[in-house]
Amino acid sequence: STGDIKILLLENVNETAINMFKDQGYQVQIYKSSLPEEELIQMIQDVHAIGIRSKTKLTEKVLKHAKNLVAIGCFCIGTNQVDLDYAAKIGVAVFNSPFSNSRSVAELIMAEVVSLARQLGDRSIELHTGTWNKVSARCWEVRGKTLGIIGYGHIGAQLSVLAEAFGMHVLYYDIVTIMALGTAKQVSTLDELLNKADFVTCHVPATPDTKNLLSAPQFAAMKDGSYVLNASRGTVIDIPALVQAIKVGKIAGAALDVYPNEPAKNGAGAYNDELNSWTSELVSLPNVILTPHIGGSTEEAQSAIGIEVGNALSKYINEGTSVGSVNFPEVSLRSLDLDQENTVRVLYIHHNVPGVLKTVTNILSNHNIEKQFSDSTGDIAYLMADISNVNQSDIKDIYDQLHDTEYKISIRLL
Ligand code: NAD
Repeated sequence: STGDIKILLLENVNETAINMFKDQGYQVQIYKSSLPEEELIQMIQDVHAIGIRSKTKLTEKVLKHAKNLVAIGCFCIGTNQVDLDYAAKIGVAVFNSPFSNSRSVAELIMAEVVSLARQLGDRSIELHTGTWNKVSARCWEVRGKTLGIIGYGHIGAQLSVLAEAFGMHVLYYDIVTIMALGTAKQVSTLDELLNKADFVTCHVPATPDTKNLLSAPQFAAMKDGSYVLNASRGTVIDIPALVQAIKVGKIAGAALDVYPNEPAKNGAGAYNDELNSWTSELVSLPNVILTPHIGGSTEEAQSAIGIEVGNALSKYINEGTSVGSVNFPEVSLRSLDLDQENTVRVLYIHHNVPGVLKTVTNILSNHNIEKQFSDSTGDIAYLMADISNVNQSDIKDIYDQLHDTEYKISIRLL
């Protein structure tokens, strides 16, 4: 029952999640910080789920001690702090929160569009150092201008709506066909977007295809005096080419939130060393807004992360649904009616080798398989099946037989 579920929450996980787990009836243990490795190894032994942020390293060494663990929730975007392959290997699904801060990023971009159009960054720096510089030349309203969005996903689509509310025209380019919101228009080539947009903003993932997506030829294809924004990933823009395009006056300003090599921690000296030399030329250019990867950093995004990861964890614990998992096949079935007698949901995680499903079907087929779903990624496969017409001794029998199968990684019966 859910009352038996033990969940360990480290690093001050947001209270939206804590409340959700308490409402579920789980036994919740909460720590404000991360734990030293030895203590973590101690604590992880008997918990069913653990919630962390970026500082807790869940290495193979630590995970080896987790005897009851079924799921890990990273209450953040990144999952580098977890050994994802090893977690999958021992049947532990890992969840994160990739989309809870979409709105925050979209709002930052709107603020920057206006800021670039009005050279706000420069005016502010000047007045901070005592210079009164009231100018209107090459300062614009954004109403009636065209915003070109590259990547019309969670963030790009939100931004589209905000930009139209400002009276902007919106064009977008994406590798898939996506229904336009409002009166935005999808264009079929990147060049078409670059030719027509006054502001070009990137909202694509870091992939081999998006590396230096905007480089010298793309800046050349843009309108004279247009602006470039990037709050996606640092690899997407060729910064030396951007510097050049700004120097020759082709590009009238830029807003960057992400960089090829970002410092690991806050503090001075962000771009003094060679690795982080990304800004050395940018800082001296006019109308360039530089922010330290804060696009998604808001209080609202933090509580949304709590809800998104909290939901994913409880759905996986209570129903076996692994949708959204970063290291695992994504499997889901319609809700299980837990009150219904003589029914059991089988969650069977196994190595992806020929013949397993035959064995499993044999074990289940004496009963009624109501519905079933299975999927695999690499060596890991996950089967979910709802079985009816079973009594307690059948259920024990199913468990024992599945337990003895050669390629089993883990089993849960709900
Ligand atoms: P998403 O997956 O919802 O959308 C990405 C879109 O890009 C998809 O529609 C996809 O089809 C499209 N795409 C992929 N490759 C493309 C290509 N080569 N050309 C054109 N379109 C392409 O992602 P999202 O949540 O909107 O996030 C977008 C980016 O923003 C990601 O890189 C994400 O890591 C980043 N992000 C940054 C911050 C921040 O703090 N600055 C916060 C959140 C997300």
